[in-house]
Amino acid sequence: MPNPKRKLARSWKGGRRSHDHVHVRSLSLCPRCTQPKLPHRICGTCGYYKGEMIVDMKKL
Ligand SMILES: [Zn+2]
Repeated sequence: MPNPKRKLARSWKGGRRSHDHVHVRSLSLCPRCTQPKLPHRICGTCGYYKGEMIVDMKKL
């Protein structure tokens, strides 16, 4: 296989966009407020993570 001098841009070869929207798919539910949140992240609704209040959402 010859060494490509340049990376082919998607517009040159008709890029497929089927993988453009697969980044955010898994959500877990916060055990405290049962709102969907990102796993291993602080809950954006109540500010709790692993049973501890990391961010006090009432003050914000
Ligand atoms: Zn929560």
